[in-house]
Amino acid sequence: MEVKKNDIFTVTITDTGNEGEGIGRVSVPGGKEPCAAGTAQTDTLSADTLSGTGADAAGGFTLFIKDAVIGDTVRAKVMKAKKNYAYAKLEKVIEPSPFRVTPLCPFSRQCGGCQLQALSYEKQLEFKEKKIRNNLIRIGGLSPERVEEIMEPIIGMDDPWHYRNKAQFPFGTDKDGNVVTGFYAGRTHTIIPNTDCALGVPENRLVLETILSHMKRFHISAYDEQTGEGLLRHVLIRKGFQSGQLMVCLIINGSRFPEEETLADALWQLPGMTSLSVNTNRERTNVILGRKLRVVRGTGFIEDAIGGVTFRISPLSFYQVNPVQTEKLYSQALAYAGLTGTETVWDLYCGIGTISLFLAKQAGKVYGVEIVPDAIRDARQNARLNGITNAEFFVGKAEEVLPEKYEKEGIHADVIVVDPPRKGCDERCLETMVKMQPERIVYVSCDSATLARDVKWLRENGYEIVKGRGCDMFGGTVHVETVVLMSRGKD
Ligand code: SAH
Repeated sequence: MEVKKNDIFTVTITDTGNEGEGIGRVSVPGGKEPCAAGTAQTDTLSADTLSGTGADAAGGFTLFIKDAVIGDTVRAKVMKAKKNYAYAKLEKVIEPSPFRVTPLCPFSRQCGGCQLQALSYEKQLEFKEKKIRNNLIRIGGLSPERVEEIMEPIIGMDDPWHYRNKAQFPFGTDKDGNVVTGFYAGRTHTIIPNTDCALGVPENRLVLETILSHMKRFHISAYDEQTGEGLLRHVLIRKGFQSGQLMVCLIINGSRFPEEETLADALWQLPGMTSLSVNTNRERTNVILGRKLRVVRGTGFIEDAIGGVTFRISPLSFYQVNPVQTEKLYSQALAYAGLTGTETVWDLYCGIGTISLFLAKQAGKVYGVEIVPDAIRDARQNARLNGITNAEFFVGKAEEVLPEKYEKEGIHADVIVVDPPRKGCDERCLETMVKMQPERIVYVSCDSATLARDVKWLRENGYEIVKGRGCDMFGGTVHVETVVLMSRGKD
């Protein structure tokens, strides 16, 4: 029998998919019975990994159900059916999972930013740890026993809420003509009013309400994506967790915000207010920030510290969003780097030099490489700000700068740290790293699948994985950071 749209199933959720969706298996009459081993093999499955395998191989028919939690028994309606799996909609939780919790945010299902809010935090960590381990096995080619040996327990958060130091809220107009701010409902551009995102700091609400009442008082419009008219597009808020400083940036479709000084007076009633600026973005685009920035009041930046290094952060700079966990992750990277004070370290994909400056105190010399020129400018400024003189930064692609320096200048590395974007390292970069023969490679990544792919490559080229660890920087979501230590000539 074929599964079709609108079919209803009652199913027990036995797994969590890569996007946080619940996974359950049913046996379809006329199809093969699920094999007993089926569920043991399905950790962090996604439709991608399933496609191509027959229903027989997978053992029954697989349903991917958004908002269903591992351990739930649910009723679900098929929305889109394929040969051996389907996406289904959660109709009713018949028997709730013991791991199901009430989300802190009443909008978590509509928003889609937090895929795992209904899952207990302990289980979230288990899911993330499993995801890393499975990627190392499936993609990295490690044996389950080896993974068991090398993996250290995931670094969880003491408080998995209100951890983000940065928030960007879109502004719009509701059907009654009132200016609203909140978040986009999952995969749409409809704003659901909410000034109190559970991942952000409590100050966000105070800032947003101050701005909303200012707009009402002075009849200021919100931007309309459809027409390209209206003024206020987004508000960006950043808080320095160490310094307590607060920065607000208004992103507007224009150059001035009406009664800026009055708004500044109102905002400066809030503790920690340090900077108010206006960013101009007149483009019809999804990109939030424009390039032009004007300071209305205050410094134009805030300062914050990670691991004793102070960073100056402007509205346009990149800065890790969870400083508490970032410090833990980088401490782990530092421990894996095994520095004694004399080593030459390369920090590839260095951003504003967060890792470089963190390592500099314990290294002989640190070189950072980053593609974005503004980030390198910030990195150099941050080095000066902290009196760090043994860090040097280069603008360019890691896969171009490193080979060039190696081939032309014969540079040396005792340790190489990489923290690439989701797509991982370019093979040219990996090739040069291996040619440079560092004793250790510390690989930090926000995507354990591409990390595992690169680990496999490095293992085939003379490096072995020695230790690995997850670090949760994004509670409530499916994302997780991973750090691994690879060593030359082991295995
Ligand atoms: N380690 C930094 C940032 C890591 S994010 C921190 O913790 O702050 C990854 C960085 O890689 C981004 O800053 C991005 O701009 C940069 N990047 C992307 N592709 C690159 C490439 N090919 N070469 C060098 N840097 C690159």
